[in-house]
Amino acid sequence: LKRRARKCDKNAREVKLAAVLGAGIMGGGIAYQSALKGTPILMKDIREESIRLGLAEADKQLGKRVEKGRMTVRQMAEVLNGIRPTLSYGDFGQVDLVIEAVVEKLEVKQAVLAEVEAQVREDSVIASNTSTISISRLAGSLEHPERFCGMHFFNPVPLMPLVEVIRGERTSEQTVATTVAYARKMGKTPIVVNDCPGFLVNRVLFPYLSGFTRLLAAGIDFQRIDRVMEAFGWPMGPAYLLDVVGIDTAVHARNVLAEGYPERMKEEGDTAIDVLLRAGRLGQKSGAGFYAYE
Ligand code: NAD
Repeated sequence: LKRRARKCDKNAREVKLAAVLGAGIMGGGIAYQSALKGTPILMKDIREESIRLGLAEADKQLGKRVEKGRMTVRQMAEVLNGIRPTLSYGDFGQVDLVIEAVVEKLEVKQAVLAEVEAQVREDSVIASNTSTISISRLAGSLEHPERFCGMHFFNPVPLMPLVEVIRGERTSEQTVATTVAYARKMGKTPIVVNDCPGFLVNRVLFPYLSGFTRLLAAGIDFQRIDRVMEAFGWPMGPAYLLDVVGIDTAVHARNVLAEGYPERMKEEGDTAIDVLLRAGRLGQKSGAGFYAYE
């Protein structure tokens, strides 16, 4: 592994300026983390309101660091200066690596990727933060698929160390190496994985969550299971985790995995998360999921 990591480093190009498309939950977090670790980043969205919210979140996170004495007000201002909000592709010709983090819809992502490829230099890397769409399929919308890979962060970006770097069928070694090096510079722990439904983490996580919903179907109380898994040493139990992830996001990812691995997940039917979705209980973001939130 160490040898592979060193090989990666040798091929990497330095990312001096990055860009993120989408200033939502993930895009905002990615912009914050990049600027915090010293790589300035353009944050582009199509809605001014999203940009305002993305910046407000960065401001709040940095404010907490100042309060705790981990950063001076001057350092905070420098980090904020590193996030450059924009509604246009104006400066994209200077960007070394772009992360697409727009809504999880194939047609939207394909259109955005083709659009951005026309704006960046030929040697710029383009990465997607998709959780469920095949990287090789997304690469089909690009003229140069070798410059494209997955860069899958986890929510909340500032707190979650892991980043999955996904190698599509035509991704070049240099693209992987540059993305791995940039993830490290962001203070993250990158792993390189092949392109398959669920990549690595969700392939492990969803069979566990499916074990949980089967226990619920057998009549076990979800709060009891949460308490047991917390006592086992996990930071949160499966019901709380699903509320944090979002019930709609979880159902979507579960469906992608069930389609990808029908022999392993075929017994999935109408589970507790399907029932919550129909009831509009989407987890923390809607004020109620398994649990109710203030
Ligand atoms: P979100 O809805 O919070 O944000 C999406 C943003 O994209 C919005 O601000 C929207 O205005 C913007 N947008 C839409 N079309 C655009 C365009 N053409 N150009 C620029 N911006 C555009 O979504 P999110 O939760 O941040 O998810 C973004 C991506 O990250 C998705 O692919 C999702 O699967 C992936 N992801 C999400 C999570 C999570 O837990 N939320 C975790 C890992 C990966």
